[in-house]
Amino acid sequence: MNHVKNLKRYVLFARAIPLILSACIERKGIELTQNRVEPSAEVALTIVYDNNPYDVRLTTAWGFSCLIKLSQKVILFDTGGDGSILLSNMAKLSINPQSIDVVVLSHIHGDHVGGLAKFLEQNNRVTVYMPASFPSQMKQEAKSKGAKVVEVHEAKELFEGVFTTGELNGGIKEQSLVVRTSKGLLVITGCAHPGRVNMVKRAKEITKDKVYLLMGGFHLTGTSPSQINHIAESLLQLGVAKVALCHCSGEEARKLFKGYFSENYIDSGAGKQIAIQ
Ligand SMILES: [Zn+2]
Ligand SMILES: [Zn+2]
Repeated sequence: MNHVKNLKRYVLFARAIPLILSACIERKGIELTQNRVEPSAEVALTIVYDNNPYDVRLTTAWGFSCLIKLSQKVILFDTGGDGSILLSNMAKLSINPQSIDVVVLSHIHGDHVGGLAKFLEQNNRVTVYMPASFPSQMKQEAKSKGAKVVEVHEAKELFEGVFTTGELNGGIKEQSLVVRTSKGLLVITGCAHPGRVNMVKRAKEITKDKVYLLMGGFHLTGTSPSQINHIAESLLQLGVAKVALCHCSGEEARKLFKGYFSENYIDSGAGKQIAIQ
């Protein structure tokens, strides 16, 4: 009798498997659709590496890396701290490392440059823009792997519509990437050691354009709320339309900026995709 009962249970369970599976696939499908950037986007940004979670499929780890897909080129801004995590996150996002043309490194901290060597093993047909202040060993290593290395001193247009602020000093030298779009500028920072406000001012000076989105590490962990408020107000006064606080921005700053920018605050983390249409 027990055998019959067990058999019945088994049959019921076996019948339920396809239903359970299809429910899982559907859930995943919704998740992917919500986070998919339209292929027709003028610029598509994807955060590949961040310590803040967003897309649960990705590994989070301390550091930052962002992919910027333009019609003419694909740029990798910073490489995170660990090349294996960078490459596995890329795979989960269906990003082929070979599709990348340019790597821009913001500053020498390991959580921004640590993934470069492993990345170059997958694709060395890239131009790497490094702050000129980087140690010569770092430049040599990238060259020995076959990459073209370009040292950045001053602000300049790297190629059409894409600029560097040049090395700005904030205890440590750092460059930000500035991309001109029909909506205004995208300003992307690594840690913003020279200060977010300074970087935005520099981007505006170079391009004579308004800032649409300021995105990246804001380096505000441990900063007092009154100072964070002051920075948020200054950025609003400078005309920054939207912000996405990543990496070293800190929970307090993310919360306070959300209050200032409300619907123009973009919640972000590893795997977040933003399309500029
Ligand atoms: Zn950092
Ligand atoms: Zn840093």
